[in-house]
Amino acid sequence: MYAWQWGWPARVLASAACVLALAACVWAPSAQARPEPPDPSRAGLGWTPFFRDGPLKDSGWAACDDPIGVSIDDTSKFTPKVASKIAQALTTAARLWSSDSPLTFAFTGLVPMEHDSKSGVTSPVDGVERKRHLYLAFVTDKESEALTDRIVGLGLPTSVDPTNKAILLGEVTFERDYVEESTLNEVTALLAHEMGHALGLGHSTDKGDVMYPIVRAATKLGPGDIAGLQSLLRPCVDTNASRDYPLP
Ligand SMILES: [Zn+2]
Repeated sequence: MYAWQWGWPARVLASAACVLALAACVWAPSAQARPEPPDPSRAGLGWTPFFRDGPLKDSGWAACDDPIGVSIDDTSKFTPKVASKIAQALTTAARLWSSDSPLTFAFTGLVPMEHDSKSGVTSPVDGVERKRHLYLAFVTDKESEALTDRIVGLGLPTSVDPTNKAILLGEVTFERDYVEESTLNEVTALLAHEMGHALGLGHSTDKGDVMYPIVRAATKLGPGDIAGLQSLLRPCVDTNASRDYPLP
């Protein structure tokens, strides 16, 4: 039996956690909002895990040498200019999350995906079983009940190995119109924030963190982002060996 089958109950839990997280995951860029300077005495303490309780509490990615694969859905729907903006934003966001951690990322190509309007979950439809992977998709708000005027991105871990609480898969979905119309910095900040959720982080109370729920620019990780990611890292184990676990 495969370890992957252990992950299915975890996937259900992850989806449930997503529904809870959606209410709090509000993206509200506002020209009127004036960011306050971060409180230095609270630096690094504002982060929260995506899974705050239950059997998957504090799940994170394994600190393995092999990179986390990243697939995106068909970008041919975008103009070359927007596709280039997405590529630049993804490169910067991946660099941010690997800058102060052992995690690295590798773009592995385009994968056709489908989006469940009600749950907000996006899944690949090619039937290929991937591990240690992130899926990125772009949908219109008409295609998703989960994306509204104020929620333009969703990110979550979607499969976790409960034996060591290592996240195996994550999904990130973006509101297509927002990505098309926003600046490179705004798209980069959104992508970095939603990737952070897929990496196991919840929202931060520190305005200096990428995981603060209202972010309009992200040129570097905040101290809470770094502390959170480091705290959630799991030891790297031989994933091939773990596939031999029998089912209970
Ligand atoms: Zn969020």
